Amino acid sequence: MPFGHDMVYSLATVVDLVNTSPSTGGDEGLADLDDLAEFVRARQVSGIEALTPRDLGQVRMLREDFHRVFTATDQANAVRLLNTLLADTRITPSLTEHDGHPVHMHYFAPDASLAEHLAADCGIALAHLLVEGEWERLRTCSAPDCARVFVDESRNRSRVYCDSRTCGNRMHVAAYRARRRA
Ligand SMILES: [Zn+2]
Ligand SMILES: [Zn+2]
Repeated sequence: MPFGHDMVYSLATVVDLVNTSPSTGGDEGLADLDDLAEFVRARQVSGIEALTPRDLGQVRMLREDFHRVFTATDQANAVRLLNTLLADTRITPSLTEHDGHPVHMHYFAPDASLAEHLAADCGIALAHLLVEGEWERLRTCSAPDCARVFVDESRNRSRVYCDSRTCGNRMHVAAYRARRRA
């Protein structure tokens, strides 16, 4: 996919964010403010000051909105859901250069809260994916006990598991064992 650093980065961030939700089959990944601070650190979300319980509540709600975009039944639904999210988000485009990355766009408002920051940058990244006609790359893992989401960046859009090192391997081993038993 011919996407720049910021877009690839924002897509990876929204995938990580959605996958903290228990609705993707695992434990609560944002159980408290420490988890939230760790997410901000790991995803290098810039310009974020002290986090409050309000931030935690807002980010947990936002990830469910994003999850609905990933699990939308068709492109029209994904567009509708994303438009609602973008309409509720303050967006201020600005060109920036930081941390060794070439000039790229940021979309969050200068005084954005963490949820607003994520809604703006991740929302725009998903919007570009839809504009490119790549909605189908937004996937949910095919492993039976996993509902984690991912963006399929494979050339032929053939990826079905959330992470080839975990679910992919696990499923291959299970299929191998099943064949041996047969
Ligand atoms: Zn940046
Ligand atoms: Zn999985």
